[in-house]
Amino acid sequence: MFSVSDVEFAEATDCLRQLLRIDTANPPGNERVAAELIARWLRDEGLSPELAGAVPERPNLVCRLPADPANRKSRPLVLSCHLDVVPADPTRWTHPPFEAVEAEGCLWGRGAIDMKGFAAMALCVTRLITRRGLSLDRDLIFVAVADEEAGTELGSEWLVKNRPDLLGGEPEYVINEVGGFTLHRNGKRFYPVQIAEKGVAWLRLTVDGTPGHSSLPDGDNALVTLAWAIDRIANARLPWHVSGAARDFVGGMAAHSGPLGKWLSPALFHPILGPRLLPLAIPDTNRRRSVEAVLRNTANPTVIHEGGKKVNVIPGHASVDIDGRLAPGQTADDLIAELRHVLRDPEGRRFAFEVWRESPATVFSADTPLFATIRETLAKQDPEGIVVPSLIPGFTDSCNYAKLGATCYGFYPLKLPEDLDFAALFHGDDERIPLDGFRWGIETLGETIERFAAAK
Ligand SMILES: [Zn+2]
Repeated sequence: MFSVSDVEFAEATDCLRQLLRIDTANPPGNERVAAELIARWLRDEGLSPELAGAVPERPNLVCRLPADPANRKSRPLVLSCHLDVVPADPTRWTHPPFEAVEAEGCLWGRGAIDMKGFAAMALCVTRLITRRGLSLDRDLIFVAVADEEAGTELGSEWLVKNRPDLLGGEPEYVINEVGGFTLHRNGKRFYPVQIAEKGVAWLRLTVDGTPGHSSLPDGDNALVTLAWAIDRIANARLPWHVSGAARDFVGGMAAHSGPLGKWLSPALFHPILGPRLLPLAIPDTNRRRSVEAVLRNTANPTVIHEGGKKVNVIPGHASVDIDGRLAPGQTADDLIAELRHVLRDPEGRRFAFEVWRESPATVFSADTPLFATIRETLAKQDPEGIVVPSLIPGFTDSCNYAKLGATCYGFYPLKLPEDLDFAALFHGDDERIPLDGFRWGIETLGETIERFAAAK
């Protein structure tokens, strides 16, 4: 049992408070102050953290707890968090976003959930393992990266490309964000543990028209054609691509949702029936969107780049960026073919697509000793909880760690009350972490690592 005393918990809460008071909104990030603070705390434990990065103001922090040399059995386990946060508009918050106010049993602040809460949790576990002299059978590496919220370029992507040695070369496992929290559904408590992330296809769509004098009606106006295309894409119901990970996740939840759920779930995966049945199975629009996102590719037009330049000229060019997300096994070309179908332009005559970022979905096996340990620990920490492997629609730093051959899980344990809309806290207003759940999370993470990596 990895227990945390009141004094140890107060120290962890204080770490989180101090981290929340450092504004690391990205852009510009400025993660250095937070990284240096954590480095100081780790040095106080006799550890040797290292800061490394492409830009001095935005370093990544890495700190290794070495395995007991006589008992080293395996490649490292990495605990990874990111120190940057998304911006916050203080006028929309109940408490200021960078003051770490404690109220209603929660610590409020941008990053409380995403993901300074895990930084403080993993840091606390790292410190306690060190202080308690726990001997490990593999290296445990604490990593706090920059720049996750803007695409990972200066953070995990940089580390993986330039300093894989700091990550132990070829880490076996990475524990990272988006999973391990309580998800209340139909009177049951689920714990999704992330084993897969959708891929990315960031596209630019350009339309050509015929420039001319805008005093004349009905010209071949590129902006008008683009507006039509944006509307078609935004409202398209792209085809189902049901991966094994999606099936495990959606089916795993449905199996515990009464006889109707059990009966419906195979039909939900059917390419024609599924899209029609989903609104009946999940009437709530928000919940349905998050399930639908794991069953197909998505494409959201987000940034208009080029429209007209002058009020009295019909624009000859217009373009928009599209945030495409790929189901496992899908490529940017597959998504473009689907969009061309939606735009009734199979030959590609009218609409030009350019891919400016593509990375495939990452999928890891849930059939590993670490996943088994996570399952056992959660079963002990919440005996009525149901663990399901999950697929998330977004991406995290795991997409980079996967390139080193690591198996990555989203496991940021948090026990949450039913009335808290957890999903809305990610990048939302009034982000806050319940302190009870935070303490439960430290103990659950600590126990997982102790069970998994303590030298036997
Ligand atoms: Zn995050």
